[in-house]
Amino acid sequence: MNTEIAGHVLLKPKRAQPFYGRHPWVFVGAIDTVQGTPPDGAVVDLRSSTGNFVARGLFNSQSKIRVRLYSWDEQQPLDDAFFQAKLDRALALRRDLLQFTDSPETAYRAVFSEADGLSGLVIDRYGSWLTVQFTALALAQRQQMFARLLMQWPGVRGIYLRTEKGIGQLEGAELRDGLLAGEPPPADLSIVEHGLRFQVNLTEGQKTGYYLDQRENRQVVAHYAVGRRVLDAFCYTGGFGLACARAGAASVECVDASVPALQIAQASAERNGLGNLVFTHADVFHYLNDLVAARKQFDLIILDPPKFARNRAAVPKAFQGYRKLHQQALKLLTPNGVLVSCCCTGLISATEFEELVAQVATSSGRDVQLLERRGPAADHPVALACRETGYLKCLISRVS
Ligand code: SAH
Repeated sequence: MNTEIAGHVLLKPKRAQPFYGRHPWVFVGAIDTVQGTPPDGAVVDLRSSTGNFVARGLFNSQSKIRVRLYSWDEQQPLDDAFFQAKLDRALALRRDLLQFTDSPETAYRAVFSEADGLSGLVIDRYGSWLTVQFTALALAQRQQMFARLLMQWPGVRGIYLRTEKGIGQLEGAELRDGLLAGEPPPADLSIVEHGLRFQVNLTEGQKTGYYLDQRENRQVVAHYAVGRRVLDAFCYTGGFGLACARAGAASVECVDASVPALQIAQASAERNGLGNLVFTHADVFHYLNDLVAARKQFDLIILDPPKFARNRAAVPKAFQGYRKLHQQALKLLTPNGVLVSCCCTGLISATEFEELVAQVATSSGRDVQLLERRGPAADHPVALACRETGYLKCLISRVS
C-alpha cells in the first residue's frame, strides 16, 4: 500500500484535544476541511485548526469515523514495518506478560483493535488458527499485508476472515467470510479453558467462534456454584454452565435461542463427561416468564445477553431489556442467591449498569450486596485513551 501522505485533515477550532489525548476516532463533525483528495484508505495527517501536526491516520470518506489515527509521531510512516511492530507488541502482551502458550488448545484474543493501537482490527487465536475481523476499510484494504505478517507468527497454520454484521454499511468495506491464508481450520477444532474442552466453530460460530472475554469470569462464577441450582441464561456454547457443572453445581440449566450453539454446548458437555446439565432452546425473555409462572427457583443465575445497543438511539430500549431480565431473574432467585449480571453494551457505562441493578433490587424489595465488579480478561485490555474499549461489565452479587 502507498504510504505517502495523501492529504491533510484540518480540525475545527477547539476540537483537537481528544486527539492530542490519543483518541483514535476522528468523526466527521470535528473536521473543518480536507486538503488534497485522499482516496479511501490512504494515509492522511490530522492537523489542528492552526495547522500543527496532531497525528497520522487512514482516511475513509464512507465512514462517520472519517480518520482513524495510528501514530502521533510525525516522522513515522504507516508502512508494513509500522504495522508489524504493532502486531508484535500485541502478541508480546499475550505471550510474554500474560503467558499464553502456542499450544494447539490455547485460545486468546491476540489483537483488540483500539486497545492495541490498531483501530479496526480484531484477531482471535484458537490454537494454530487465527480469526481476523476488519472493522475499518483501510485495514481491510491491507489484508494481504496483515495475512503475510500473521502467517509468520509462531505456530500459525491458517487465517480465517470473519466479517461483522453491518460493516459494509458503516465502512463501505465489501468483505466476505473465508480463508485468508494457509490451511482451513478443521471442523472439529476445540480449545481448552481452565481444564474444560470446548468445541469451537470458527467458520460459522457467533462473534469469532467463542466468547473469550468471559474466560476468567466463568472460572470465578464457577466457585459460587458448588451445590447450587444454576440457570445460565444466554449460554451460547455453554461457557458458564459447563464451568459451574464441573465445579459441583447441584444442577445447571442452559438457555439460548440458537440451536447450533446449544448443539455445540451439549456436545462439549458430553465430551467433558458432565451429566448434570439440561439445555433449553428458548427466547430467554419469554422463558423467564414461564419459569416465574411455574414458580421455579434457582440459587445462582447468570445473565449474559448479547449487545443490546449499537448506537445511542437504541440505548433506552437496551436499558428496558436489562431491566426486564433483572426483574424476572430476581423473582427466580432464592434468598441469598447469587446473581451474575453481564453487560457488553459499551454505550452503557459501569456506573449506569450498577444503578440499573440497584433500581431493580429496590423495586423488588431485595438487598443486593455487590461481591465482585469484574471486566473482561486481560487479553481484552482497555486503552485509557479510548475507554470505549472497556465494554464488558460483570457484576457478581448476593441477593437477600
Ligand atoms: N454466555 C456465553 C455468551 C453469550 S453471547 C458464553 O459464555 O459463551 C449471547 C447469546 O445470547 C448468544 O448465544 C445468542 O444466541 C443468545 N441470544 C440472543 N438473544 C437471545 C434471546 N432473546 N433469547 C435467548 N438467547 C438469545
